[in-house]
Amino acid sequence: MKKLFIHFCLIISYFSIYPTLSFAQSEVTASSAAEDSAVIIMYHRFGEKTFPTTNVTLDQIDQHIAELSKDIYNIVPLRTITEALKNEKKLPPRTIAITIDDGYLSIYQQAWPRFKAANIPFTLFISTASVNDQNKLSMTWDQIRELASDPLVDIGHHGHVHGHMTQMSTPDALADIELADETYRRELGYVPDIFAYPYGEYSDELAETLAPKNYHAALGQYSSAASSARDVMTLPRFAFNQNYADLDRFKLIINSRALPIKDILPRSANLENNPPAVGFTVNEDINGLSNIGCFPSHMSEAAKVTRIGENRIEIRFDQPFPAGRHRINCTMPGPDNRWYWFGMPFFNLGD
Ligand SMILES: [Zn+2]
Repeated sequence: MKKLFIHFCLIISYFSIYPTLSFAQSEVTASSAAEDSAVIIMYHRFGEKTFPTTNVTLDQIDQHIAELSKDIYNIVPLRTITEALKNEKKLPPRTIAITIDDGYLSIYQQAWPRFKAANIPFTLFISTASVNDQNKLSMTWDQIRELASDPLVDIGHHGHVHGHMTQMSTPDALADIELADETYRRELGYVPDIFAYPYGEYSDELAETLAPKNYHAALGQYSSAASSARDVMTLPRFAFNQNYADLDRFKLIINSRALPIKDILPRSANLENNPPAVGFTVNEDINGLSNIGCFPSHMSEAAKVTRIGENRIEIRFDQPFPAGRHRINCTMPGPDNRWYWFGMPFFNLGD
């Protein structure tokens, strides 16, 4: 299910923006004005072609790292971004953090040496059961400790069994977190204070369940640039796999920036009203709103966008969203040949 989900989302986000890709391929003009925006990207496996929906090839990661090594990008530890967003501090243009989920062996063997050679920091979200059980080509705790001792590497919390936590009872979800806590404490000597939801699935109830854990921030898995307009406990990440990790798409994404918006509806990603009534207000100083395109992952065409006044965008649907995980990607050309990108996830997962 996870593989299908990632695959499907990547297809949608790829084709919905690809026809206009030439826009981002032209010469980038660097602007130095700080902005309320950052891009968080997400990998799983490296050079493991038998897992195409979670893997990037070694050629692809080499190309990505060569691009990230250019001066126009500001690659920072994830915490630099989460601190800035929490404190509503602006960041240099093209501020980017790298995250890698689950703890596969190819991180140790392939990704770490490459990122280290390029002096690029990254955060690893480790789900503890698969490391303990040594299944799914996982790293060992010795290898993870070696990584954790590198100043470039941070470790994040990803639960124990990598379960569908929004569908667990509150006691079961807490028990899973606490099993992971015990393991991190035993193996690393501390419990990571930043969380990534397994499968990117979250809900208001799960957020409430996790609140006493006082995580510094929490990350989902849906395409969008991040900004302080969003809840720091449900931050977006752009996922890459080998079918949709070519350099053009990569450049388009790492050059994207958050669409400055407020008054986002609905407030919850749970589909309490289905179909949802989606709306947001774009800051008055943003031009070109007539060029915005919003692409729902479960439809084969752009959604009908209605503008209320100058700056309010409303999207309505005739049909309920089907069961499953969905998202809406809204993109629009912006200054400096960069795309504004705002995405929202929706979960219709039942109980
Ligand atoms: Zn994961």
